[in-house]
Amino acid sequence: MERSKVTVSEKEIARQREYAAKMRGIIGMQGLAAHIRTYGCQQNEADSERLAGMAEEMGYRITEHAEDADLILVNTCAVREHAELKALSITGQFKHLKAKRPHLLIGICGCMVTQEHRKEDIKHKYPYVDFLFGTGMLYKFPEILYNAYHSGTRSFYIDDTEGNIAEGIPVRRESSFKAWVSIMYGCNNFCTYCVVPYVRGRERSRAKEDILAEIKELADAGYREITLLGQNVNSYGKDLGTGYEFPDLLEDICKIQGEFLVRFMTSHPKDATKRLIDVIADNPKMAKQFHLPLQSGNNRVLEIMNRHYTREHYLELVDYMKERIPEIAITTDIIVGFPTETEEEFEDTLDMLRRVQYDNIYSFIYSKRAGTPAAKMEGQIPADVQGARFSRLLEVQNAISHARNEVYEGKIVRVLVEGRSKTDDTKLTGRTERNRLVHFEGDDSLIGQFADILVTGAQTHSMTGELKK
Ligand code: SAH
Ligand code: SF4
Repeated sequence: MERSKVTVSEKEIARQREYAAKMRGIIGMQGLAAHIRTYGCQQNEADSERLAGMAEEMGYRITEHAEDADLILVNTCAVREHAELKALSITGQFKHLKAKRPHLLIGICGCMVTQEHRKEDIKHKYPYVDFLFGTGMLYKFPEILYNAYHSGTRSFYIDDTEGNIAEGIPVRRESSFKAWVSIMYGCNNFCTYCVVPYVRGRERSRAKEDILAEIKELADAGYREITLLGQNVNSYGKDLGTGYEFPDLLEDICKIQGEFLVRFMTSHPKDATKRLIDVIADNPKMAKQFHLPLQSGNNRVLEIMNRHYTREHYLELVDYMKERIPEIAITTDIIVGFPTETEEEFEDTLDMLRRVQYDNIYSFIYSKRAGTPAAKMEGQIPADVQGARFSRLLEVQNAISHARNEVYEGKIVRVLVEGRSKTDDTKLTGRTERNRLVHFEGDDSLIGQFADILVTGAQTHSMTGELKK
């Protein structure tokens, strides 16, 4: 695709900033608040940080509390039905807020509303929703809001799923030490179960200069962890045609001055290369962690999922990772109960868990997505069978995760301290390079810093430890 069609012009970005300035002129003195509710993946979280940046530029203060808000934005996910139902249910609850505060504006954006049938649903069944906009229209938020504010009519901006790369949008980052950086958008893979290519358009990479400049700025500001985002980061640069690929980008990022760790997601096994693994092994700034979605451990199921790799190829990659980086933590995504999956084929997935020895897995019950090829397949698996397989999967993995944590008992690990523990606020929570949580006692001044922790106990999903002076 031509770059000019993929990149939003500077003129257009300037036009949006004029809308933001106009809004600020109108509402700036009124002390209005905006509430943004985010569902779904890290890409959506990163998008919400941009939406919050634009809202602030327009003069809104950001609030955690929907009841205080004058503007509510729901940033939705479409990857599984459950995520869509959650977003719809919360939108339903906001109806009552509008009854109390008639001037309240409610908007929905993100992947769910980029689907025509959902757009129509909301148009007809949620009349109190003022505006919708799709994933590729994010940069137009100031104009969309300006129009909603003035026109009093409802608007629906869903087109352009090819999407656009928009540089120069203000960002309000949630954290002062961990940052998301999108390096590319969209997906070309069309796995048969997945809605992402339909709602986020084709792959398009940001220019390396823009990515490196953003990361340099973050490093200079003292950020300690940078997570690069893309649906298949291994495709980075392919659309640019310059021969500069993902491992090259990682090498250049690691040359940036500063004390920070680099993570990335997600890497598709069909495109992961030994060179990528070498770059992780050879650069101290690269976290020794690899998220490599397997989805299924059976070759027939992988084929009908359109994944383009075999379990043998996957295991070859894993062997090379373990050889080059013995301390590597491998994590994965698994789908259970894909149409036609037999009991024996599911057992192949369990077998892969045992062979790879994942630190952690993200497991999902297959969810039928409208418009995807798998939704039309014969042999959909009944919910009770899916549920039983899901429980068995967790049982096998929990034992492995526990054992993987036990290895660290008595050892010292470096963590990035993230904040107070959610379950016990007498403790701090840190994350190891392997992306595992450690709880320990310590002072708030450590938050956002690296600290060395002696691991004293291992649980399934976390460890406990003591701060080393
Ligand atoms: N681009 C990433 C994943 C994006 S979606 C990748 O290819 O790895 C995140 C995860 O959601 C997927 O890895 C998959 O395990 C899960 N997922 C996607 N569609 C799904 C569906 N229809 N039902 C259940 N899980 C799904
Ligand atoms: Fe979905 Fe497959 Fe693309 Fe990942 S690679 S976003 S699972 S289509």
